[in-house]
Amino acid sequence: MAETRRLYYEDPYLLEFEAEVVERREHDGHPAVVLDRTAFYPESGGQPWDRGTLNGIEVLKVVELDGAVLHVLGSEIPAGPVRGRIDAATRTDHMQQHTGQHVLSQAFWELLKGETLSFHMGVEVSTLEIGLKTISDADCDRVEDRANAVVWEDRPVKTYFVPEERIGEVPLRRPPKKQGLLRVVEVDGFDYSACGGTHVRRTGEIGLIRVGGTEKIRGNLRFEFLCGGRALRDYRAKDRSARKLAAAFSCPAADVAGPVERLSAEGKALKKRARQLAERLAAFESQEYILAASGRVIAGVLDDKTPEEARFLALAIAKRGEFAVVFGAAAESQGHLILARSEALKPDLRQLAQVVGTVVPVKGGGGPSLVELVMADRARLGDAVDAAAAWLRDNA
Ligand SMILES: [Zn+2]
Repeated sequence: MAETRRLYYEDPYLLEFEAEVVERREHDGHPAVVLDRTAFYPESGGQPWDRGTLNGIEVLKVVELDGAVLHVLGSEIPAGPVRGRIDAATRTDHMQQHTGQHVLSQAFWELLKGETLSFHMGVEVSTLEIGLKTISDADCDRVEDRANAVVWEDRPVKTYFVPEERIGEVPLRRPPKKQGLLRVVEVDGFDYSACGGTHVRRTGEIGLIRVGGTEKIRGNLRFEFLCGGRALRDYRAKDRSARKLAAAFSCPAADVAGPVERLSAEGKALKKRARQLAERLAAFESQEYILAASGRVIAGVLDDKTPEEARFLALAIAKRGEFAVVFGAAAESQGHLILARSEALKPDLRQLAQVVGTVVPVKGGGGPSLVELVMADRARLGDAVDAAAAWLRDNA
């Protein structure tokens, strides 16, 4: 395949270009073309491909194949000259993330001797895998501060080609992966990387670098980070959310974590207490049901009970005599059917899933003496209870 002239090497700000089709192909069931020259960046080196159009036809994907750049298209492109347009917002975003990555990688190396092992630019967030076992918040802040200082110094970002035999003269942060003529991206006097990506021309255009969450991976640390417009959008969303919470808790937005944690702990404690009380209530209520019972089968729809409360009640009844219990719990959006029986009784309640299923579609299961079935249509709970109760009167 013919080598493609890469216009994005010469000028990453070029968003429109003209070219000729030199080859037509098919890629994953879509038409694809190789051009003599292109400003489209193909997916490589952790950076996604550029979005845009060729003669108004959407470019679905851009991949590298044997030195050529393959443009995968939404539909076939007619013969004749091609006019390409790169989506400006995506290109700017990629340039900010990618240049920000070089700066951040060098800051990790300079301050902590943390080597960059891999880089991935996602649609929402980008990640860097760094050869560190742990990092303190203070060290992470130092790295972030150093990276942003380099951004605000507005250093030039230069790109130039160096032959392989002279690459030793360039203080590269990582040894190059490729051979032959190497493209060096230099963040003026700060970072030297062999890289084929698209970068901004001055670090000031990165705007801001924010290091987010960290996780352990393969014994190293993987950092999420956001640059430029992504960092602004992230700050905006989190600031709004923090302000809402702060207003609800009447505290400063930056201190909202404390009250939220306390509320969450309180919620858990209350849930536990409510459960204990529901179990105690079930013990009392079970006596009323048993007194009113006119046989072994006790059935009914409980309008105000949650599935858990209905289960406590059914189990309390089954424990106090020889009973089979069918309760419909109607307090939640779906209908829940609770089936329980005393150990002394024989029938396997799991058979009831099929019996009830002939009347109302249900899901769920359980053991021989306790089964819980769920139905989307809560209004059919009464029919389901009747069907189960009828079967139990014949079989229990
Ligand atoms: Zn790069």
